[in-house]
Amino acid sequence: MQVFTSILVLAIFFMAYMITDIRDYKVRKVKSITTLARIIGVNTAAAILSQDNGIAQNMLRELKNVAPEIVRADILDKNNNVFASYIREGAVNPDTALIKSHRGSLFADTLLYVEDDIINNKEFLGRVSLAIALSELTEIKRSKFKIAAILLVAALIISFFIALALQSYISKRLLYLVSTIKDFKQTEKYDVPAADNGKDEISVLVKTFNTLMKEVNESQQRKDEFIGIASHELKTPLTSIKGYLELLNAMETKGPQKQCVKKALESTRKLEKLIKDLLDVSKIQRGQLRLKMQRFNMDDLLDETIGSISMIAPLYTITREDENLGREVFADREKIEQVLINLLSNAVKYSSPQGKILVNSKNNGSELIIQVKDHGIGIPEDELIDIFDRFYTAKDSTVHISGLGLGLYICRDIVHRHNGKIWAEKEAKGSSFYFSLPRYNNA
Ligand code: ADP
Repeated sequence: MQVFTSILVLAIFFMAYMITDIRDYKVRKVKSITTLARIIGVNTAAAILSQDNGIAQNMLRELKNVAPEIVRADILDKNNNVFASYIREGAVNPDTALIKSHRGSLFADTLLYVEDDIINNKEFLGRVSLAIALSELTEIKRSKFKIAAILLVAALIISFFIALALQSYISKRLLYLVSTIKDFKQTEKYDVPAADNGKDEISVLVKTFNTLMKEVNESQQRKDEFIGIASHELKTPLTSIKGYLELLNAMETKGPQKQCVKKALESTRKLEKLIKDLLDVSKIQRGQLRLKMQRFNMDDLLDETIGSISMIAPLYTITREDENLGREVFADREKIEQVLINLLSNAVKYSSPQGKILVNSKNNGSELIIQVKDHGIGIPEDELIDIFDRFYTAKDSTVHISGLGLGLYICRDIVHRHNGKIWAEKEAKGSSFYFSLPRYNNA
C-alpha cells in the first residue's frame, strides 16, 4: 500500500512537471517563431508593394539555412492569395487550407502553425504563415518519459525495500502483542504489562491494551475474592446440613421418608463437591494449593478410585486394561486421587451406561502415563485445549449437562504442580484424557 501510494504520488509529480515543461517549451517556441514571422513580414513589405514576388521567394528560400525546422513558409497577400511560398525538401506538405485559414498560433499533429500580419504604415499588406516541425518536442517528450520511467522503477525498488523494513518492524511489534495476549490467556497473569517504547499508533494500542488488562486483572481479583469468601461461607452451614441429613438417614427406617433423605443427601454431596472446587480454584489463584508429597502405589490408587466411582455409578462399566504392576510414584496421593475422580466422573457424566470406560497406564521413559477413555459424546477438535481453562464448558448447546467448568482446570493445576502434563484427545467415539507423572525411582 505504501509502495503504491509513493509511486502514485511520484507519477503525479512527474506528470505535472512534464506538462509545465512542455507548455513552457511551446510558449517559447511560439514567441521565437512569431518574431521570425515578423522579421520576414517587415522584409517582404517592399516586395509586396512592388508586386515582386522573386525577392520574397528568395528570402523564403533562405529559411532552409536560417531555420531548418520550418517545413513551409507562405506570404499571403491581403486577399489571402499565395504571394510567395517555400516548402522544405522532403517535408510532408502541411495543410494549405489550414495555412490560409488559421490565425495566431496553432499546434496540430506534429506541426506548429504561426501566422503574423504584414503592416506597412498602418496598412495591412498581407500575412506571413509558417509551419514548423515539432521533432524537437517529440525528442524532449521521449527523453523526459525515459527519465521518468527510470526514476519510477528506482523509486519503486527503493520504496519496496523501505516498506519491507517498515513492515517487519511493525509486524514484529504486533506479533509481540499477540504473543503477550496468548501468554495472558495461558498464565492468567494479566498484571504484566506489554512493553513498547514507540510513539506511534501501535504504542497507543499497546498502552490501551495494558490499561484494559489492568482493569481485567482488578476485576478478576475481585471475582476471585468473592468466590473465595462465598464458598468459604457456604461450606460451614452445608457441613452441618450434611451432618444432620446423615443422622436422619441413619435414623429413618420408613421407605418413602428414607428415599427423600437419600435424595437430599445426594444433592448435598453435589453441592459440597461444587463448593470444594470453588475453594480449590480460589486457593490456586492465591497460590495456596499445597502438595503433601509421598511415595505411594499408583496401581492401588487406580483400583481404589475405580471402585469408588463404580459404587456411585453402578450402571457404568469401568475396566482397567493394564496390569497391576505395583508401580510407585512420588506425589500428593489425595490430589492425584482428586484428578482421577474428576476424569472418571466426567467419563461417566458425558457418556451413557452402554459406553465402556477404560483405564490404562503405561511407562514412558521416567514417567507414568494414565489414560481414561470413554465412548461418550466426545469433544470437538478445536476445544481440546480450551476445556482445561477456568469456567470453560463445551460450546455444544444441544447437550445440556450442568457443570461449572472447574474440574479440568483444577486437574491441570495439580498435574502441572507435579511437573506432569495433562491433555485430551478425540477418539473415533468419545474421548481420552491423559496425564503423566514422574515415576518414583523409575520403578
Ligand atoms: P464440568 O464441571 O463442566 O464438567 P470440567 O472442567 O470437568 O467441568 O469440564 C469442562 C468441559 O469439558 C465440560 O463442560 C465438557 O464440555 C468437557 N468435557 C470434560 N470431560 C469430558 C468428557 N469425558 N467427554 C466430553 N466432554 C468432556
